[in-house]
Amino acid sequence: INRETYKLGNGVEIPIIGLGVYRVEEGDQMKQVVLSAIEAGYRHIDTAAFYGNEKGVGEAIKASGLPREELFITTKVWNDDLGFEETLNAFNKSLWNLGLDYLDLYLIHWPIEGKYTESWRAFEKLYEEGKVKAIGVSNFHQQHLEEIFAMCRVKPMVNQLEYHPYLAQREMRAYCEAQDIQLEAWAPLNRGGVFKEPIIQELAGKYDKTPAQIILRWDVQNGVSTIPKSATPSRIVENIDIFDFKISDEDMKRIDALDRNQRIGKNPDNFSFDE
Ligand code: NAD
Repeated sequence: INRETYKLGNGVEIPIIGLGVYRVEEGDQMKQVVLSAIEAGYRHIDTAAFYGNEKGVGEAIKASGLPREELFITTKVWNDDLGFEETLNAFNKSLWNLGLDYLDLYLIHWPIEGKYTESWRAFEKLYEEGKVKAIGVSNFHQQHLEEIFAMCRVKPMVNQLEYHPYLAQREMRAYCEAQDIQLEAWAPLNRGGVFKEPIIQELAGKYDKTPAQIILRWDVQNGVSTIPKSATPSRIVENIDIFDFKISDEDMKRIDALDRNQRIGKNPDNFSFDE
């Protein structure tokens, strides 16, 4: 079992590494993938209402037989469900799908203009009622966070952002650190797109690790929590086996140098879901 955690602003501990499950098929496949991850020592699962696989995650949680408090479960409210009542309803639906009576982390999936402050009110209510241990956002830039700060009673504890060696989020990392918001990396592996970089290959040889392990270790040493996705048991095991080595400061800088502000996903400053 991997027990490496970061402490969030409210004292809740989040396992540094979690399993991302975007595009894992709902049902038996989803259940098997989460069971493989639990067997490999993961205790943190990142899903979303949008992924349509919360039920399989829930079935695995139940089948694992683990005490609830051993697990850290995240889900997210989708864009169509933003607004106060809508978010409360979406939360109940997710909780029901997952078969849980509380959530560890609930995130606003995307900062849809004019919509997310009302959802944040709902998040605060859920948090204050103890239905979720920590609340946060995803794909929020500084101006979105400032809008939340201007109206909130409870500050976001996490911001989940696209983050990998091609998009090192230097400014957002510093900003989140200053605001005591934990940065969490989505698409940490750039969906495989950085594995062939010569420096990543060289460091994999030098540390006797795989390219995926080098990149995920870079996240950890940068204080970022990370949720690589895989549905392949051997890769699920590989991706969490990153706590027995350390990348030197010099080599960390060489990975930093790959940053080219290049996204896979939409830019939260300028995006639309209508297309
Ligand atoms: P990722 O960077 O985690 O890449 C996953 C892909 O990399 C896999 O499908 C597989 O092809 C490959 N891979 C994984 N481990 C490997 C290994 N050890 N060796 C070789 N190849 C390997 O991309 P992702 O799934 O987009 O992101 C991770 C998670 O982040 C998602 O599953 C989801 O939970 C979350 N996410 C959140 C948002 C958001 O808007 N908040 C957006 C996208 C993803």
